Amino acid sequence: MNAFDNAKKQLEDALKILNLKGSNDIYEILSHPDKVMEVSVPVKIKGKLKVFNGYRVQHNNARGPYKGGLRFHPQVDLDEVKALAFWMTMKTSVVNIPYGGAKGGIAVNPRELSEEELEKLTRKFVEKIYEIVSHDRDIPAPDVNTNPQIMAWFMDEYSKFHDHYAPGVVTGKPIEVGGSEGREEATGLGGYYLLHEYLHKIDYKKKNPTVAVQGFGNVGATIAQILHEHGFSVVAVSNSRGAIFYEKGLSISPISVKESNIELIKEYKRAKKITNDELLQLKVDILIPAALENQITKSNAKKIKADIILEMANGPTTPEADVILAQKQVTVIPDILANAGGVVVSYYEWVQNETGLYWYRDEIYSRLNRKMKDAFSEVFHAKDRYDTNFRNAAYIVAIKRLAKAIKLRGIIN
Ligand code: NAD
Repeated sequence: MNAFDNAKKQLEDALKILNLKGSNDIYEILSHPDKVMEVSVPVKIKGKLKVFNGYRVQHNNARGPYKGGLRFHPQVDLDEVKALAFWMTMKTSVVNIPYGGAKGGIAVNPRELSEEELEKLTRKFVEKIYEIVSHDRDIPAPDVNTNPQIMAWFMDEYSKFHDHYAPGVVTGKPIEVGGSEGREEATGLGGYYLLHEYLHKIDYKKKNPTVAVQGFGNVGATIAQILHEHGFSVVAVSNSRGAIFYEKGLSISPISVKESNIELIKEYKRAKKITNDELLQLKVDILIPAALENQITKSNAKKIKADIILEMANGPTTPEADVILAQKQVTVIPDILANAGGVVVSYYEWVQNETGLYWYRDEIYSRLNRKMKDAFSEVFHAKDRYDTNFRNAAYIVAIKRLAKAIKLRGIIN
């Protein structure tokens, strides 16, 4: 099954439990994206023309403008982008921010491009999609292999087409061009706030819980560092090339996080080199997938030894793996809740752009903390009420809010 099939299965499972009036209509609306745009992005690479496939999927805007990241990765395809856009609709609803869901991407390996070529690629992509994005229509943001610099180019190119400074068209920008304090660390920090809330709720007593983090990028490295600073023992981290394991706990330094580089971790040389699959199967208290989709599947779910999985990546666990993990009584805190901190602070960035009033970092952190706590509490309540797992409960909270908006607006008639 591809990522979009997985997403639809999750929707179907939650709708069965929710037993909503008009459930079939809601399934039909949410299992089809509103709009799909597929573009060709021609760029000269080392003097030779190359045409890249680009996508923007606008999934649903019942609750507000389409919102979602932009991914540059060789495996990007339409089904992946559709799934990621669908999860954004669910995520913005579960944390109750006034957005819908979207996603975009280009099938490219940015590591093979020079800085100049990457800028050209970004600007060409904007040229192809500028008519369907705007501060009140569709607002992109960073995702895998995209960063504040790419968002700055995006904003600049868009501003040229519209002949005015338009910071609100994209979030995750550098501070100097309308970005927000706290946005870079927001996803990791939000995940930490949520995990903290969960451990508090279950009265977790274990001292220095062990953690393995798959993916040492913006999200994975940030949460690894925060957990390390809060007394968790981060015993393994990885990137696309492999993983390191150090039983006594890695000291995750700010420089390794800033550079997203595991080789800059002090214990790198002494640590045991293992594969990503071995990392997923480590006997740790908390496992954090923070890389790509479909990492925990029916073929390795049985071998997972962690008690808690905090999904910081989007779609890391397949529905078949979910069934196996439930049998093994592994708690899975789902992506649409766990990694929502990024879009929450993107929303704060957008509010600041719209109003022109910029907030202090402590204000951002305290608002983010409250948002994550409120969302967790609603999901926890739904989990109890419907006697189900966290994933279904998060979907139930999201779907109820979406169904109300769809009904009030008269979208189904
Ligand atoms: P990133 O590009 O900064 O980092 C990705 C990391 O994953 C890198 O360390 C890379 O080497 C590693 N990786 C790639 N393929 C891998 C593989 N096959 N096995 C192991 N590691 C691999 O991306 P990011 O922004 O940190 O995003 C990571 C995940 O978090 C994605 O699923 C993304 O959709 C999700 N997410 C990101 C944000 C955000 O604000 N950036 C918000 C919510 C969710």
